[in-house]
Amino acid sequence: MADKIAVGGVSVDTRHWIGGRRVASSGTFPDVSPIDGTTLGEISRGTPKEAASAVAAAKAAFPAWAATPRAERARILHAIADGVEKRLEELAIVETTDNGALLRSHRRGVMPRVAHNFRFFADWLLSLDHDDFDTFPSGGSAAGRGHTNHVSWDPAGPCVLITPWNAPLMLATWKVAPALAAGDTVVLKPAEWSPLTASLLADIAAEAGLPAGVLNVVQGYGAEIGDALTSHPDVRRISFTGSVPTAQRIAASAAANLTPLSLELGGKSPLLVFADADLELAVDLAVEQYDNAGQVCLAATRILVEEPVAEEFTRRFTEKAARLTQGDPRDAATDVGPNIHPRQLEKIDGFVQRAVAAGARAVIGGHRSDGQYYAPTLLTDVAQDSEIVQEEVFGPVLTLQTFADEDEAVRLANDTRFGLAATVATGDQARADRVGARLVAGTVWVNCFFVRDLQAPFGGSRQSGVGREGGTWSFDFYCDLKNTVTAPKGWTDH
Ligand code: NAD
Repeated sequence: MADKIAVGGVSVDTRHWIGGRRVASSGTFPDVSPIDGTTLGEISRGTPKEAASAVAAAKAAFPAWAATPRAERARILHAIADGVEKRLEELAIVETTDNGALLRSHRRGVMPRVAHNFRFFADWLLSLDHDDFDTFPSGGSAAGRGHTNHVSWDPAGPCVLITPWNAPLMLATWKVAPALAAGDTVVLKPAEWSPLTASLLADIAAEAGLPAGVLNVVQGYGAEIGDALTSHPDVRRISFTGSVPTAQRIAASAAANLTPLSLELGGKSPLLVFADADLELAVDLAVEQYDNAGQVCLAATRILVEEPVAEEFTRRFTEKAARLTQGDPRDAATDVGPNIHPRQLEKIDGFVQRAVAAGARAVIGGHRSDGQYYAPTLLTDVAQDSEIVQEEVFGPVLTLQTFADEDEAVRLANDTRFGLAATVATGDQARADRVGARLVAGTVWVNCFFVRDLQAPFGGSRQSGVGREGGTWSFDFYCDLKNTVTAPKGWTDH
């Protein structure tokens, strides 16, 4: 096995990163580009042995990192952000080649956000030193007179972070940055379908001066090393982004030690288009759902349109979607790239063919394109309780249903086992407020989509997740909160 491979002219180490050293497994797995099916290289295939040594390295590095002053931790996080910005073009080309998402999105949106993830939590850390909201007097006689409460955010310990392939580095760093900021150490397990940028992150972090063992990266199949990580008694937090069935396995495994979990899972989010909406904007929002070939957890894959405008909406949507260019994600003109894996393509097509067999009509698409690409698809005549309306496809497949009034719109929107996000297109703010309040979703967007401030809570209700990420919610998750109550001088306990 070659220790390093060249991807888009960038050298990437194919081995694990454990305790500040590159470590190879005896076995490998192939990393294949979805763009054209090229094998990019053979990656170290982790076993429970490497999983255990990564946790041991994280445990050994924990006391010193936890004791590192906040200002120094923040300085190193900023240095990692500098490294991401310096290597932004390399990260963008490697990630595009590895997972097939658009190069222009990686350059303009995703990789700058990766750097921002580190800067945000570095600044967050510094702000803790300036605020004194963590110290307050007790009120009321029962609570003590003159006693002082001091709340501290103690580092929790080694954390296992497990991430998917659809936005690999962005989703990994949403977890890595707050965990490191909190003073925790990390074992990152990236998805086997997109392992490369996690390896580059290990290089960048080491160059930025992150001490050995604070960040470890173990490559491999979740089914082979997941349990060794998530059932490990020395692991203090597990944060997972991925599918519901995997989350169920992880929760069962973590139950052995009652390890706290953060779960960011799938969705079947609605886009509600009311007759009073700016229809051009609503169509743009709907077509945007084909971004990343539909492989976006937040994607509003169920379009719900108020009856009077349904025909006009469908006509304009069809026209606009027909102008999308499908092809190589490295080309600037491409709008829709490939799907990640032949197995995923099979899955997508299976959903569509079963829906059509059950009576759905493909207004556009409904079939594979050449290679590992699926034609952007819109299905109508779908039943609310059908598989295509209820299950996450994770491909460029949308359904369209109509509704008669607000009540029906809300009923259809909420009628799935998910609750990740919802988008409302309306020209009436009072309606937006009314409907938004009734939607079951971690995020509601009004006349916009995908806008996310890292300060805001992000996550899902129902089976879309457990807990929230972002700002204080991330930071608190990675800390053990402690309250120290101090009596005033001379206070006696009687
Ligand atoms: P997946 O659940 O198949 O895999 C995710 C990760 O879990 C991978 O790293 C995989 O190796 C690992 N894994 C697999 N089995 C494991 C086990 N037994 N123990 C521990 N780890 C294991 O998901 P995927 O196909 O990579 O990602 C797609 C899913 O992720 C979709 O459902 C999507 O909606 C969801 N997702 C959610 C968000 C969010 O923020 N809510 C963001 C992106 C993706």
